[in-house]
Amino acid sequence: MALLLTPTFGGAEVWRGALATAMPDLDVRIWPELGNAADIDVAAFGPPPAGAIRKLPNLRLIVSLTAGTDALLRDPDLPPVPIVRAGDPAGDTMMNETTLLHVLRHHRHMPDYLLAQQRCEWIKLPIKPAAERKVGVMGLGAIGFAAAEVLTSAGFQVAGWVRQSRPSGEIEIFSGRDRLKAFLARSEIVVNLLPLTQETRGIIAAETLKVLPAGAAIINLGRGEHIVEADLIAALDSGHLAAATLDVFPAEPLPSDSPLWRHPKITVMPHVARRLVPADLAPRVCEIIRKFHARIPLTQLVDRNRGY
Ligand code: NDP
Repeated sequence: MALLLTPTFGGAEVWRGALATAMPDLDVRIWPELGNAADIDVAAFGPPPAGAIRKLPNLRLIVSLTAGTDALLRDPDLPPVPIVRAGDPAGDTMMNETTLLHVLRHHRHMPDYLLAQQRCEWIKLPIKPAAERKVGVMGLGAIGFAAAEVLTSAGFQVAGWVRQSRPSGEIEIFSGRDRLKAFLARSEIVVNLLPLTQETRGIIAAETLKVLPAGAAIINLGRGEHIVEADLIAALDSGHLAAATLDVFPAEPLPSDSPLWRHPKITVMPHVARRLVPADLAPRVCEIIRKFHARIPLTQLVDRNRGY
């Protein structure tokens, strides 16, 4: 029995050290050093390296180091084994920071002030208290829910859009495709924290953008493919949408000839919403392996039919 891990964030030695601390007797192989591949029964991947899964004849469990499993689910060699996400179900403090950072930037019109500064122009834009600002979070999963709670604590009026219905609490809940437009129509700042699935690909497009209130802003922290780029640019150019902040893109790094780089109303962030911390994740990976070998039911399983 052995674990193969791709060292997503942090080098091989950092991961080896963190895994040895959490589970000293674990046989660890760090990609691309497989040793005898037949020993490997568990693999922990970010996006799996091309062809990696094909080399593992006895794989019985996959642990996803990243929250998004879209790249993993697209792997043509994916075997029918359980996939478990290793992230903290209580959310991620770095994602909370990033969400709050960008919501505050749009709430207080920072993109407009930066443009005005370039023109040496002294402008004053309307200031609203957070309690009067309606923020919508698309996806209230492990990461989205924690981020929405932080926004609520900061005083914003927060609503969330999810797939399965549930009662509203402090965060107003809109569920299902038929409630998407109502959710968007009340959201002045939209934060996308959806997983990329067949249902959510291209969800931010002309038809959905036009429902947003005039002057709304979009923050995309999900996946680049959630947004139809040409429709986003058209909504910004028409003045309907005030600004957008994008942390994720269909092709990364973002090609230098992409119009997104130079658009005055777009803030491009190079997929830096958070980083994975081996010292935090290694004990979680080891706990999953312990449970798996002890046949204890696993939580945070990815449902392949739902796509997340
Ligand atoms: P989860 O899988 O825990 O939650 C997904 C959420 O999205 C759930 O609330 C789910 O609804 C909702 N959802 C899924 N499909 C639909 C749909 N068709 N309609 C409405 N709601 C839907 O994900 P996480 O919160 O852990 O992460 C979300 C995503 O954030 C990741 O998949 C990844 O793409 C992105 N991410 C980006 C990072 C970055 O660096 N920029 C870092 C980390 C994550 P329900 O609750 O009803 O199931």
